[in-house]
Amino acid sequence: MAEGCIFCRIAKKEIETQVVYEDEHIIAFKDMKPRAPVHILFIPKKHITTMNDIGEEDVSLLGRMFLKIKETAGTHGISESGYRVVINCNKNAGQEVFHLHAHLLGGRLFSWPPG
Ligand code: 5GP
Ligand code: ZN
Repeated sequence: MAEGCIFCRIAKKEIETQVVYEDEHIIAFKDMKPRAPVHILFIPKKHITTMNDIGEEDVSLLGRMFLKIKETAGTHGISESGYRVVINCNKNAGQEVFHLHAHLLGGRLFSWPPG
């Protein structure tokens, strides 16, 4: 738990969210400002600040998180139409919350390259 971290507080249920999936190590919840019909955030319950901070010890945790992203895309009916998984890191990517999270976005067409 990092002091003042909003996603640590969500993981500890100190802040209410629409939880989509949860296990011992991961929690997924709806983004409060959805950018697409499906917009779900996946976080490790453990505080990791950015992509730059992941380590060898996180490999199975993050692998499992990606498996759950795939499964959630399936349960939300966007596997075939397609979806985007985004992890923003630091300023140039526009990271706003400094607790590692993956966005699962789907249900509409996305442009490429991203803005
Ligand atoms: P970032 O730009 O850091 O990759 O994205 C942070 C995301 O977290 C944004 O899409 C924002 O809407 C979402 N977010 C920020 N605070 C909260 C919150 O308290 N609850 C929920 N459900 N989403 C949040
Ligand atoms: Zn945190």
